[in-house]
Amino acid sequence: MSWDRDISIKNAAEIALMREAGRLNAEALAAVRELLQPGVTTADLNAAAEEILQKHGAYSPFKNYGRPPFPGSICVSINEQLVHGIPGNRKLQEGDIVSVDCGTVLEGFIGDSAFTAGVGEISPMARKLIEATEQALYVGIAMMRSGNKTGDVSAAIQQYVEAQGFHVVREYTGHGVGRKMHEGPQVPNYGTPGTGVLLRPGMTIALEPMVLIGTHRTRVLSNQWTVVSADGSLTAHQEHSVAITEGDPLVLTVP
Ligand code: MG
Ligand code: MG
Repeated sequence: MSWDRDISIKNAAEIALMREAGRLNAEALAAVRELLQPGVTTADLNAAAEEILQKHGAYSPFKNYGRPPFPGSICVSINEQLVHGIPGNRKLQEGDIVSVDCGTVLEGFIGDSAFTAGVGEISPMARKLIEATEQALYVGIAMMRSGNKTGDVSAAIQQYVEAQGFHVVREYTGHGVGRKMHEGPQVPNYGTPGTGVLLRPGMTIALEPMVLIGTHRTRVLSNQWTVVSADGSLTAHQEHSVAITEGDPLVLTVP
């Protein structure tokens, strides 16, 4: 939980800027979602997101992030790939489920959001997984209120997902977001109510349930980025950047 020292509280003007970054990020994700059909390559999806960002003088914080530098502006993770899939020549196929994670830097502030959707007809189990992951995000967001703790959010997500018969990842977490892509506090997708960091107005957090059908275990492919389920079962990922306010949580990464 080393990021918990790196919490930055945003004022109203900063949250307004983050809302604009989030709005643009939503626009880029919507453009990608429209392209999801058999035969489209993951590089095509990346290009569509980049075009939207560039048109508005923005860019993705993912590009060249880390070691080895991440080559894409979005992450595209298919089926057993949970997160950090690298865009390339792979073509989408009927029945795939595709997770798209996009970041936007606009005027120095970052929006970070992800969705999972099917290509054409998908299996009933895949549909249930996607719906549970999306619902888990909203269950978590509902707990993002001043006075609650990060453990309240984490526990709500874990309890919901496990009640659906699925599993939450352990190694990858939600995180504060702002001028940096990863700030404090860390918000895991599992936890204990009443523990962790106290949520206060002005905190901005990217909450991101990552859900697996088989077990919670993952491994990283030899490209050093792509995270897959250890057992090869389907996975899904859903994310919004959210501001804690005096009242209801404010979702930043929506149109
Ligand atoms: Mg993300
Ligand atoms: Mg994130």
